This record gives sequence, C-alpha cells and structure tokens, in this order.
Amino acid sequence: MAQNPLFDLNGRTALVTGSSRGLGLAIARGLAQAGAAIALNGRDEERLAATAEVLRSEGARVVPAPFDVTDGGAAARAVERLEAEFGPVDILVNNAGIQQRSPLLEMSEAQWRAVIDTNLTSAFLVARAVAPRMVARRAGKIINICSVMSEVSRPTIANYAAAKGGLKMLTRAMAVEWARHGLQANAIAPGYFMTELNRPLVENPEFNAWICQRTPAGRWGEPHELAGAAVFLASRASDFVNGQVLYVDGGILAAL
Ligand code: NDP
Repeated sequence: MAQNPLFDLNGRTALVTGSSRGLGLAIARGLAQAGAAIALNGRDEERLAATAEVLRSEGARVVPAPFDVTDGGAAARAVERLEAEFGPVDILVNNAGIQQRSPLLEMSEAQWRAVIDTNLTSAFLVARAVAPRMVARRAGKIINICSVMSEVSRPTIANYAAAKGGLKMLTRAMAVEWARHGLQANAIAPGYFMTELNRPLVENPEFNAWICQRTPAGRWGEPHELAGAAVFLASRASDFVNGQVLYVDGGILAAL
C-alpha cells in the first residue's frame, strides 16, 4: 500500500542531536524510514561513524555532524557546513541530554550547570543556528525532547526537572514567535525508556518493579515507540500543530 503523503518525509533533511545511540537514534531511524535524510550528532566521532554505517546499511541517507550542543559557535559552524554540503535542515530534533543525579541539598553548581546547559540551553543554541534559515525558507519543524519531568519531579533530579520544564516553555516560546514564519515547534515527552541514560534505574530491581507497577502500560517504553510521534511532528500531518507537548509515556502522567 502507498505511504500516506501526509507523513512522507522524502526530500527532507533532519538534524537529530544526540543521535549516536538511545532515543535520538530511534527517532533518527524512524524519520529515515519515512524518507528523511539524517544528520547524526553526538560528541564521540567514532561512535557517530559506526551508527551512521548501521543506518546506511538499513538504506538511509546519513551524514555525521559531530559537535557539542552546549557550544553555540560549534553548532553554528556545523549547521552552516551541513546546509552547504548536505542540504537545508528542514527538521531539527533537539534530543541531546544528560542526567546527573544528586540530592538537591548536595547538588554542586557544576552538576546544576551541566544538566541545564546540555538539556535546555543547547536547544536554544542549536535552534538559533537553524531557525533563521527555516524562517528565510518559510518552513521548518522543530521537535524538542522533553520528559514527563517537564511536569513532575522525583528526588535527586532537580537540575533535570528544571531543564525539562524550561524546555517545555522554550517550545511554546518558539511557537509563539516563529509560527507566523511558517515554522512548527512542538515537543515529545517520553516516559521511562530503557537507554544508557537510565542504566542505573534499569539495573535497580526495586526501581524496575516500581516503574512497571506505576506505569499503566505495566512496562518500560521501547525506543522505537517514539518514532510515530516524531514522524507526525516532522511531517505535513502536523502543519497546524504548534507549541504542543506530546507525552509518550504508557499513561504514567495520567495516573496518580
Ligand atoms: P543516552 O544517554 O542514551 O544518549 C544521549 C545522546 O546524547 C548520545 O548520543 C550522546 O552522545 C549525546 N550527547 C550527550 N551530551 C551531548 C552534547 N553535549 N553534545 C552533543 N551530543 C551529546 O540518552 P537517551 O537516549 O536516554 O536520552 C535522549 C533524550 O531523551 C534526552 O534529552 C533525555 O533527557 C530524554 N529523555 C529520556 C528518557 C529515557 O527514559 N531514556 C525519558 C525522557 C526523556 P555523546 O555522549 O557521544 O555526545
């Protein structure tokens, strides 16, 4: 059966930050399967090259775009190079993120700043490099990867919850300022997914049991389960959707 043209990403290019593994890789793969060419990002160039090879072997058009998302100058240079050599960035997924857990009373300034810089300021810096080009073309899709922690918190993740709450509001601010230029800025907020970032939680049997009991779906999410939301928010199907957060969380936020 023919692909629904509303969700067809052929001819589009997506820059997905933090896509050398985990949720970013799953999102990149989902966008590639819908037809998009992919610019893969991360800091570890070797891992990026290996991930690019895997996606190529699956039939995707891929280019590695290594840069640190907390470095605004590096982001601007990488986007300029990408647009000159690979094509216009039609879709930007601000996904790169880290977690540094600590009780709030013991949290260092370095832990606070690292998480705010990587999970929140990075989205401003990379969007600042990409959005003017989208505005000039009067088209562009920005997808920020929030979290259920954009709405609620848990002990030891104050820096992360503050960053993700801020990212939700940055998403709305982008929509408010850029919708009139033909851009859509929305967010995907995952619940608990098994990735490197959550390794300490996955390996903790008590937490693992708690998550399965606490999540109405009764399990962790699998990274590929974010692809549908990403393709929707990257495609024409969402052209009048702006400033929204789509929770992909097995129902956890709906339940007390
Ligand atoms: P992973 O730790 O598995 O992957 C993180 C990715 O980001 C890697 O590719 C890493 O590559 C890259 N990265 C980290 N720091 C930087 C940086 N400064 N510059 C460029 N790239 C960077 O994390 P997840 O896949 O689990 O998480 C992805 C996003 O999803 C994050 O924003 C996270 O907060 C969010 N999220 C995750 C959830 C989960 O359950 N896993 C739930 C809700 C939200 P490298 O180290 O080589 O730079």
